[in-house]
Amino acid sequence: VTRIKIADENWSTTLPVIVKPDRDEWLGGFLLRCDRANCWHAGETVAHILQSTSTKYFNPLAPPPLHLWALGQAVGLSLTHMQHLTYQKELARLEGLIPRLLLQPAHSFLLGVCPECIYQLHFIEKAVALPFSQVCLEHELRLQHQCSCHTYLKLFPRGKPPFCCAACGLDWQKLPHVKAEHSAIQAEETFRYFFSRLFSQGTPKRLARLLSFIEERQRRKEASVKAKQPSVHYISRLIARGTLSLEDVVRDLVLTNASFDEAFADWTNDQDQIAVIE
Ligand SMILES: [Zn+2]
Ligand SMILES: [Zn+2]
Repeated sequence: VTRIKIADENWSTTLPVIVKPDRDEWLGGFLLRCDRANCWHAGETVAHILQSTSTKYFNPLAPPPLHLWALGQAVGLSLTHMQHLTYQKELARLEGLIPRLLLQPAHSFLLGVCPECIYQLHFIEKAVALPFSQVCLEHELRLQHQCSCHTYLKLFPRGKPPFCCAACGLDWQKLPHVKAEHSAIQAEETFRYFFSRLFSQGTPKRLARLLSFIEERQRRKEASVKAKQPSVHYISRLIARGTLSLEDVVRDLVLTNASFDEAFADWTNDQDQIAVIE
């Protein structure tokens, strides 16, 4: 890998070698493919974006439109194209009641990759950014979060080639190919179904009703165990916090023992008929 000093380069807008995003590709993996195509260390495309936007931090889970726009400039595509690499648009459509909606907080995100996807296409599926994602459904393999040397996978390890372990340099395609158990595949399909329903048909009103549904179920559960102290109003607690993570919503929903179908039961015949589907 040849180190290229970005400041010395005479390119200012597009990358020397331009890469196009694949369908359902995740932003983090796309950035690594840009690095790889240009024979750079992991994270140099991000360094370019930060430099061109005079910003310091990059969050591949929730990048601001400015960073996606700058990346679009670098690969000759529109902001809209770049937004397909994230769930930002889907989240924006659901916001309204909640000032800031996240998939999951950055600190709880553990990078996981499918070694076979890396081997075949250096591809990281967008779904790895979803909370609870553990399985590549295409290859029915468990996502790998740790290298054989026990180091957790890092997206942009400084001074290392893309798609390699930060500590020992092992290529991610050589990570163990572990067949996913049937139960893990089923769980993955269930969570993916939840998110696809939420993202394809969700509106702020429907999300609010989903939260009310969870609250109602929690109340019923408390009533059945005759809890002395009623819990703080679920929705007001969320609104007061100002940030809602869908990871928490799914966890709370699962804790109520309600099925996703029950939670979405009134979505087909409500006032919000006109679902926003792209
Ligand atoms: Zn795969
Ligand atoms: Zn390693």
